[in-house]
Amino acid sequence: MRKSLIKNVDLIVLGAGLAGSAVAWQAHWRGWSVAIIDRLDAQSSSRVAAGLVTPVTGSRAAASWRWSEFYPAANLFYRQVEKALSASFWHVEPALRVFRSEAERELVKGKWIELGHHAEPNSIHAELFSGPDWFGLNAPFGFCCFGPAARLDTVAYISETKRHFEKLNAFHQCNLDCDHSIEIESSHSGYPIEISELQLAGKRIVFCQGIAARENRYFRDLPLHPARGDILLVQSQDVRCKQVIHHDAWAVPVGDQRFLVGATYDRIAMNEPIESSDEKTNRFRDELMRRWESMTTGTFRSGQHVVVEQRWAVRPASYDRHPLMGPHDVYRNAFCLNGLGSKGTLMAPRLAEMAIDSMEGSALDPALNWSRRK
Ligand SMILES: Cc1cc2nc3c(=O)[nH]c(=O)nc-3n(C[C@H](O)[C@H](O)[C@H](O)COP(=O)(O)OP(=O)(O)OC[C@H]3O[C@@H](n4cnc5c(N)ncnc54)[C@H](O)[C@@H]3O)c2cc1C
Repeated sequence: MRKSLIKNVDLIVLGAGLAGSAVAWQAHWRGWSVAIIDRLDAQSSSRVAAGLVTPVTGSRAAASWRWSEFYPAANLFYRQVEKALSASFWHVEPALRVFRSEAERELVKGKWIELGHHAEPNSIHAELFSGPDWFGLNAPFGFCCFGPAARLDTVAYISETKRHFEKLNAFHQCNLDCDHSIEIESSHSGYPIEISELQLAGKRIVFCQGIAARENRYFRDLPLHPARGDILLVQSQDVRCKQVIHHDAWAVPVGDQRFLVGATYDRIAMNEPIESSDEKTNRFRDELMRRWESMTTGTFRSGQHVVVEQRWAVRPASYDRHPLMGPHDVYRNAFCLNGLGSKGTLMAPRLAEMAIDSMEGSALDPALNWSRRK
């Protein structure tokens, strides 16, 4: 290709989900020229996700991994993007955890209430309430209000980000064949990455492909452990709760008596094709409806809860539930940011910052390095 036709950039980002979008912004803010490539896969994890950021999770009511590092970075980052785009997609509001037993209530009380409230604005705080119900929710053991918690409207954030980079001529809609269309030289100088079909050359490339990393020869060995997740959009007349609820499932009120209810977690093998079957779709819909009905009060006369829509995608989870990032073993100008699992919204902003730091020469935290398992 004639060199004069090629656009040279500091960083090529492949994939514009939560990971790639965060990397693109962080690089852009550091003054790097960026080119983003995405095929706009409607079934991508980021486009299906509920975008919840929850401080306390799981049956042990533990703080989310590295909360005190990830949450302030996410809060600052999404507010900064909102400001840059004059848009609104990041909503910080406490979340409710409805207890399923007296033991759970006591656990949370001991861990989060009796420890006392913390003074710093980003530290986790909790308040206990008694049941038996809360605006249509079944709460015989009471519930707890946790903060700070947040929700990102992922579809709005991703599409506004795309629009922004399109205006800068930095967004390429393309389904890139990673095995044949990307040439990487092991040199450290100049623009060793070339994608001739897009007339692009880059100093570095970062692969943020989620589960589609399976199709990429450069990072095919990522220890991903994918998990399908389903979400329902349900219309429920008798539930009037306005907060995000965590119980047997989580539920997000989205207006007009509609709630997103999710999510299932179904591990799939690395080489398993990503396709659905009626059997799976029906099974996961029934499972979520069972969980939603157990969370709500009232009699379950037919038509009280109506499934409006069902969505699913595959989370790029890792074998140990922690992110997978860092440079390729041979091609040191090729990086990956993956393995965000169920927490892409919370973790992507800080991880993107760390990815750029490491491209600039800072040491990468070994706990995040994708090759830690070897
Ligand atoms: C049902 C469900 C609910 C979830 N709920 C939450 C939640 O509440 N909170 C939360 O934080 N997380 C949630 N998650 C997880 C979250 O979705 C992921 O952590 C996150 O989206 C991963 O982002 P990613 O950018 O790494 O991958 P992806 O979202 O998969 O993005 C990869 C991108 O790369 C592009 N791409 C890949 N290969 C190519 C190629 N060859 N050429 C061009 N483009 C390519 C794709 O089009 C896609 O846009 C949920 C996931 C599911 C499935």
